[in-house]
This record gives sequence, C-alpha cells and structure tokens, in this order.
Amino acid sequence: MSCGRPVITVDVEDWPQSTWDRNLPVTARAAENMIRLMGILNEAGVKVTLFVLGKFAECFPDVVRALSEQGHEIASHGYGHVEIFRQSREEFREDVVRSKEILEEITGVPVRGYRAPDFSILRNSLWAFDVLADSGFEFDSSVVPIRHPRYGIPDWPREPTRVHLPGQRSILEFPLATYRVFGKNWPIGGGGYFRLLPGVIARRLARRSMLSVPFVFYCHPYEFDPWEFGEIGLEIPLRVRLHQGLGRGRFEARFRRFVSEFGGRRMLDLIQQAVQYTDLELKAVAPGSGFELMSRGV
Ligand SMILES: [Zn+2]
Repeated sequence: MSCGRPVITVDVEDWPQSTWDRNLPVTARAAENMIRLMGILNEAGVKVTLFVLGKFAECFPDVVRALSEQGHEIASHGYGHVEIFRQSREEFREDVVRSKEILEEITGVPVRGYRAPDFSILRNSLWAFDVLADSGFEFDSSVVPIRHPRYGIPDWPREPTRVHLPGQRSILEFPLATYRVFGKNWPIGGGGYFRLLPGVIARRLARRSMLSVPFVFYCHPYEFDPWEFGEIGLEIPLRVRLHQGLGRGRFEARFRRFVSEFGGRRMLDLIQQAVQYTDLELKAVAPGSGFELMSRGV
C-alpha cells in the first residue's frame, strides 16, 4: 500500500529578500534559478505546485506565466514574505488577497492554495485559516507537525486535514512531510534535512512515510544555486552562510534522484483523488480574538 506519488512544492522567492531582509528588492537571480529549475522539472517530466511570492510575480510575470502554461499549479506564498504572527489580521488579509490577485491577473487561472512564509501558521496564528477561507483559498500547506523553536504545531495530524471553521466554512490543510519515530515527528519534507541527510537515508525515510500518509515535499529555487553565497553582494555572517548554503552543491542531483525514484505531482492532483481527511474544528475563543483547535466528532 502506498499513498501515491509525492506532492512536489516549490516556494518561489529570492533568498536575500525572503530570508535576510524583507525590504530588499527581488533580484534577477531568483528568476534565473527558477528558469533553471523549470528545465529540471521538464526533463524529469514532473508537474508541481509552485507557491509564488507576489513580489516575485510582480517582477517576473513572464516566468510565472510560462510555468502556468507548462501545466504547473500556481499557488500563493503571500506578497511580502512577512511571517503571519508579525501581521494584524487586516494586514494579513491585504497581503494574501494582493498576491492572489497578482497571480490570477498573470495566469488567468484561479489560485486555490497558500503557503505561509516560514511556515508561520502556529498555535497563536490559527486565525489565518479563517482569513484564508474568507479570501477564497481552498487549501493551505503551511503546518509542520513538529516541535521546533521557530515553527510547527507538534500535535497537528501528519495527514491531510479538513479544518472546519465557524459558519459552515472549511479549508484543507496538507502538512509538510514528517517521519514518526521515538514518539516524535521529524521533518523530512525538504529544507536543511533534505540537504544534509545522506540521500539514501532521506529516500528510505520518505519511502516509509509514503506508506501511511501523502508526502508533501518542498524546496526553493535558490537551493539549486550553490554559487549564490560566493557572489552575493551582501554582508552575510559565516554562520548564516553555512546554515543556509550547506548541501546546495548536491541538491540538484539529490532532487533529480528523488523524483526519478518516486515521481511527483501537484497538490491539485492529490485533491482530485479520494483523499482521506482528518477533521479538525477551529472554534473562536471570543469574538474577534484567537481560535482554539478541537478534534471533531470525538
Ligand atoms: Zn518562503
């Protein structure tokens, strides 16, 4: 038994703007990296879901249009890459609606999905689901069900979830892939773990994980660019360069091996299947304030 091919997702953004300083402009390097990655995806024959940052789309609409025309799913990564918990509800609404409108204007295709900057849907920002559903999003893929100092909701289910909201509304959540062992969930869907774990181990854990839950993989165009930190015109501390740059040199080969072994698909392909969803209910604690998470029907 297997839950099928992994869903391959890419957060389309520029490293300096999205990670180092949100006020920097998005550079041409981001577009060049995305165009290279587009070639790799084409060679592999894989269609993916791209969570595109609004600021990137504004600068490079032709790249976004080409990706959409090639059959990739265009979803939203918000507009400015500010973590949700740093925004008010109104600021967040403006950010996601703005990004959705920019992307739909470019591609002519409705945007259905969202991923938060730095996976910033946490226990104290669960209200984001409410805003996303109200803004016309059908799914989200921002929750990492792990314990981590900066992100994650450790007791969130590892499998696809239907989040029920007040007023008969709901939104689907597809958490990033994890592996459960020693009573804990470990993130194996991408990022540093995928860059630093030996490839054979990363694939073995992925294969096992796919037996029980759909696998959501994520990466960024800049992870395919090992030259960035040698050429970047910014003062970046060595610690950050190492943390963010290690493993980039082998990322492309590793990614190619992963998709040649497992294949890949878009989130919309997974949604079209008869997916088993775990039901969760979000209840408003008080009007206009936070939300509390409840399991439904238990
Ligand atoms: Zn991002």
